[in-house]
Amino acid sequence: MITIEHALTLILNNIKVGPSTVVDACDALGLVFAEDARARNNIPPFDNSAMDGYAVRSADTRGASPRSPVILQLLEDVPAGHLPKKTLGLGWATKIMTGAPVPRGADAIIIVEDTEEKDGVVRCCAEVKRGENIRRSGEDVRKGEAVLRKGNSIRPQEMGMLAAMGRTRVRVIRRPRVAILATGDELIPPDRIPGPGQVRNCNNHSLVGLVKKCNAEPVDLGIAPDDSAKLHAQLREAAACDMIITSGGVSVGEHDLVKKVLAEMGAKMKFWQVCMKPGKPLAFGLIRGKPVFGLPGNPVSVIVSFEIFVRPAILRMMGKKRLDRPLITAILEKRIEKPADRVHFIRAKVCLKGTRYHASPTGPQGSGILKSLVMGGGLIVLPKAKTVAKAGEKVAVMMLDPAEE
Ligand code: AMP
Ligand code: MG
Repeated sequence: MITIEHALTLILNNIKVGPSTVVDACDALGLVFAEDARARNNIPPFDNSAMDGYAVRSADTRGASPRSPVILQLLEDVPAGHLPKKTLGLGWATKIMTGAPVPRGADAIIIVEDTEEKDGVVRCCAEVKRGENIRRSGEDVRKGEAVLRKGNSIRPQEMGMLAAMGRTRVRVIRRPRVAILATGDELIPPDRIPGPGQVRNCNNHSLVGLVKKCNAEPVDLGIAPDDSAKLHAQLREAAACDMIITSGGVSVGEHDLVKKVLAEMGAKMKFWQVCMKPGKPLAFGLIRGKPVFGLPGNPVSVIVSFEIFVRPAILRMMGKKRLDRPLITAILEKRIEKPADRVHFIRAKVCLKGTRYHASPTGPQGSGILKSLVMGGGLIVLPKAKTVAKAGEKVAVMMLDPAEE
């Protein structure tokens, strides 16, 4: 058996960052910039008011208070999207809305709450300092600044910044296409009623969701029977994608054909027993340079193995810097016992109570008990040598989803 860390290192050593492509900025969420994006103009492009109020000369407001207001003459009204027509002189005020250009001659905005306007006269009841409530041209981003950097992930705020910079297209690392293939004579599609000995293929749907969560593109290739020739044909089709994930057929049974067929196809394969539970059997290799993961068949093993091995590989292909999921520390709600055999991933419901996370195991932990993952979004990680974790003890939890409550 090899360790999780060792298997992951061997996998990641074979994963290269994918090629770049240009996409609509609106489709770039979760992808990685393949080049720096420089601002061609200042943002904001012009000095503008940060508040609704009056543009003034700050010197005019010196000593102003509710008791002794300063009286200014109203010069004009500038809503957002309109230009001031007049230069402001001493003793004058221009009514201005948030986002409207600051008139020439003004050096501050007095907020509307500190004024009273009547009959063309503005009473200012507070002092304003030079520059107050003015957003300067370029105060967000200067012309030429490389505010969006190659290698960084695109979040909603980066999408907004692209728009502010006038970029509707962006060069990113291409979304990998990930082929998903279930194997097993017993499997039927989810819309069919199982006959004797049959079960619905649930792994493909789990994997579609997992791949989508990585912002990669799943390609569901359905079910391959436990038949070498058919498996061969379906894997050949799968090799058109950037990565292949199979489930089932990688353990030691007579009908576990995935390893054999991949090897026949010329794939350089590694077959491991990884020191973890669930998810002990794992196949990994390259088929014409494309990474192939042979995951175990049990529905929980599929998801856990994906999280530990496939997700980091997809993220690396996508150019992401951070590949691991953060571990949090949680207080264990219920005692767990295990043999000192492997690392165990115990499915748990994680709640935030005050400032502390609490983790409760979600019941029976068999690798076929998918409900154990439905009932919680965390995996308690118990090291190989650990045999008992007591209630109240601190444990490390890998968060697959945010804490509930
Ligand atoms: P295997 O690794 O092929 O021996 O499969 C282990 C267990 O997982 C068996 O009980 C299979 O029926 C089950 N299994 C395999 N693939 C799937 C799947 N796609 N959906 C649901 N169960 C599966
Ligand atoms: Mg099988």
